[in-house]
Amino acid sequence: MGKVLRCGELFPGCSVEARGETEDEILKQAAEHARKDHGLSQIDAGTLAKVKAAIRTA
Ligand SMILES: [Zn+2]
Repeated sequence: MGKVLRCGELFPGCSVEARGETEDEILKQAAEHARKDHGLSQIDAGTLAKVKAAIRTA
């Protein structure tokens, strides 16, 4: 059983999904994607909390 983060829950219209076995794996992918595609150079605590809340078990 893995976990999935659908970026569209945070950035409406984005269809990217980050998948992994652990929250850490997903956060790593999400941080990279957010930097490359959404221009977020840093993930602040508020954003991190939103990202974590959007991670689902898949
Ligand atoms: Zn995205």
